[in-house]
Amino acid sequence: TDALEVPKLKLNNGKMMPAIALGTYLGFGQNGTIKSQNKKLRNVVMRAIDIGYRHFDTAFIYETEEEIGEAIRMKIDEGVVKRDDIFVTTKLWNTHHKREQVPLVLKQTLDIMGLNYVDLYLMHWPIGLNEDYTFSNVDFMETWRGMEDAQRLGLTKAIGVSNFNAEQLKRVIEEGSIKPAAIQIEIHPQITQADLIEYARSEGIVVMGYSPFGSLVMRFGMQFPGPKMDDPVLVEIARKYNKTTAQVILRWQVDRNVVPVPKTVNYERLKENIDIFDFKLEQQEIDKINQYDSHVRYTFPTFWQTHPYYPFEKVDNPLSDPFIGRKVNSFSNTKS
Ligand code: NDP
Repeated sequence: TDALEVPKLKLNNGKMMPAIALGTYLGFGQNGTIKSQNKKLRNVVMRAIDIGYRHFDTAFIYETEEEIGEAIRMKIDEGVVKRDDIFVTTKLWNTHHKREQVPLVLKQTLDIMGLNYVDLYLMHWPIGLNEDYTFSNVDFMETWRGMEDAQRLGLTKAIGVSNFNAEQLKRVIEEGSIKPAAIQIEIHPQITQADLIEYARSEGIVVMGYSPFGSLVMRFGMQFPGPKMDDPVLVEIARKYNKTTAQVILRWQVDRNVVPVPKTVNYERLKENIDIFDFKLEQQEIDKINQYDSHVRYTFPTFWQTHPYYPFEKVDNPLSDPFIGRKVNSFSNTKS
């Protein structure tokens, strides 16, 4: 086939991570997590493999693990790829933070996916919750020991964290026995994360960037302030390379050594988003995009901000949501 070849980054466990991952969180609707209908996501992932995607990002809470696993197994059966060629990232949910729960839920995930191992298992948040979504006081270092157990058992090749701040990451590095291989955080022009990226780099930890399009796309059915696809500065850079604004934004991440995690279920945009490895931005263009930084997050669960391990800035008027915690990705903020 004429699949695109995606470069790879070396992890501290010696394994290679493909430099772009397909996001598979479909959002949160009225009645919970939005699920794929009629195997739509499975078919998207199968097409993605055909055109060169090798890295898939999911999570227990997204309820997309099953269709991703199915797509991967079908492409292995078709002889298009081997398990070895594919990199699967998934995440431990907040209600599973007790040490002994971690390997058990990862086994459950492997059952759901029909796989023998994943390549990267991330602690989704430093925040532990009870089954009823009240706060639990499980220390994330206890959870990390469970993550280490899961890696020792061979259920995952590597472990890492998501939505940890610098101090929390430092604690894992200092107190853990296995160093995180990766950290996944929100990164886009409005939240460039220069300090956390630099700290992770200095520790040999690979950074994955979620919600890479930031304000450029609609979120929760709304437009938010910030640069859009027709932003003149971005359009000028895109013209120069004969690329789209979306491609420039993804390349900006690649050029900052960030593994972007763009989500799309559209076959054209699937192609567009992976076609970013035949050009490179100049430092001055990277700096121009960095100037949009206004520290705006779209994943901002202020209903958890009284939790002892809440990772982000606190606000004066936190959201109090009846589905506390379940709506983790269906709220937003502008600058606090
Ligand atoms: P993205 O920045 O990937 O934006 C996705 C939106 O952009 C969709 O509406 C998509 O629509 C649209 N889109 C995709 N490509 C293009 C394009 N080329 N041009 C125009 N529009 C485009 O944000 P997400 O918040 O979805 O984040 C991506 C992934 O990151 C998630 O799926 C998940 O895997 C991960 N994530 C992790 C979190 C964590 O806590 N660790 C939190 C949030 C996300 P369409 O599908 O119609 O193309």
